[in-house]
Amino acid sequence: MTIDRRTMLRAGMAMFSGAAIEAAPARPSRTVLRRIATEEAWSTPEHVAALCAIGQTGWDNLDARSWGKVTTTSQLARRLVDVDERGRVMQALGIDMHVLSLTSPGVQMFGREQAVAMAATANDRLSEIVRSQPSRFAGLASFAPQDPARAAKEMERCIRELRLNGFIVNSHTENEYLDLPKYWEIFEAAEALDAAIYLHPRAPADTMAKPYADYEMQAAIWGFQAEVGVHAMRLMLSGVFDRFPKLTLVLGHMGENVPFHLWRTDHWYERRRASAVSKLRPSELFKRNILITTSGVEHAPALRYAIEVLGADRIMWAIDYPYEEMAPSVSFMNDVAISEEDRAKVFHQNAERVFHIAPA
Ligand code: MN
Repeated sequence: MTIDRRTMLRAGMAMFSGAAIEAAPARPSRTVLRRIATEEAWSTPEHVAALCAIGQTGWDNLDARSWGKVTTTSQLARRLVDVDERGRVMQALGIDMHVLSLTSPGVQMFGREQAVAMAATANDRLSEIVRSQPSRFAGLASFAPQDPARAAKEMERCIRELRLNGFIVNSHTENEYLDLPKYWEIFEAAEALDAAIYLHPRAPADTMAKPYADYEMQAAIWGFQAEVGVHAMRLMLSGVFDRFPKLTLVLGHMGENVPFHLWRTDHWYERRRASAVSKLRPSELFKRNILITTSGVEHAPALRYAIEVLGADRIMWAIDYPYEEMAPSVSFMNDVAISEEDRAKVFHQNAERVFHIAPA
């Protein structure tokens, strides 16, 4: 009896999900596609320990509250740090590559000097991992927005010397958003380096925290997407993309609510056009400068909507490991009813283009 890769994949997924997976009717003659997952959290023991320590300070902040529930010996901490375990699961599931990034909120809860130093250390470690397993891992570099000038320098080092693949930033920093002109040298650097910035969630800023403080609303159930949606809208309306027309921004979680509202956003932009700062309609700008990923959203109608409105060239696959499990995400992307051409774009082709990953 011959066992094809699909059968092995299903067996692997069943093994790791701990549950038998119902055999779906096989799609005839589908080629196995390269699978590149683009929002995969990673950390160092020191970084996890520092976040857990912040969680114990009693700081009245939504991210601090979340980290107060994490310990350095938890499964989450282990999965963030353990690259070997991650690699074994990837192999069993047929995941070719994780694009790793320092877990949220990165260095953005620390004081300026500590943040600058932590980002540099994390970037060095990340580049070691990528260099040791270049076909399995790529990496998005961190920087400390607390110090925009040194952030821009670190960004240049990470692309030119460490050969990392882009950047990650976790929404607000000290309750400020990156549309403020003092942060624009970060965008200037990213554009000049032809490296995308992944705008990743963290809990809503203190300035809008109160309504999110109940029912665990600060996190993935609503607060993350509300926070990043606000941030993305600020960037779009501020003229950042007029000033840096080749800047590429990536939003996870099927676009953090923004794509669903583009028609209405355009509608009201037009009605206020005379006073608008950005010269481009939000939808024009979104389709020119922003890509989205599927992280944490295994919902076929949402993906098909995004393909129809943004185009399949603007969407990348992501799991959001270890906050989400790998197996269901692979399963979703394998089987979701979209064209095979679009599946290839989402599974790997767009990631290769945006993050400068060599084709397999
Ligand atoms: Mn994530």
